[in-house]
Amino acid sequence: MTPELLATLTLFTASGVYALACWLYPFGKCRTCKGTGTRQTLIRKKFKPCRSCSASGLKLRYGRRLFNYGRKVVKGQ
Ligand SMILES: [Zn+2]
Repeated sequence: MTPELLATLTLFTASGVYALACWLYPFGKCRTCKGTGTRQTLIRKKFKPCRSCSASGLKLRYGRRLFNYGRKVVKGQ
């Protein structure tokens, strides 16, 4: 087995696993609020709702976003 073939197989396997994860679990934790849905302000240390995820604590994964865009392009909408 050549190193190029091994690298290609590893790349395809990792891509397949990520695509399956995006299909099964389309939402991931918000990086801004770490999944809590609230953020603490810097100056007064008050808790405010996270604007990045609309206080849900979840965000659509990049792979799922790409999949949705591809589906939209194929459908022609
Ligand atoms: Zn958030």
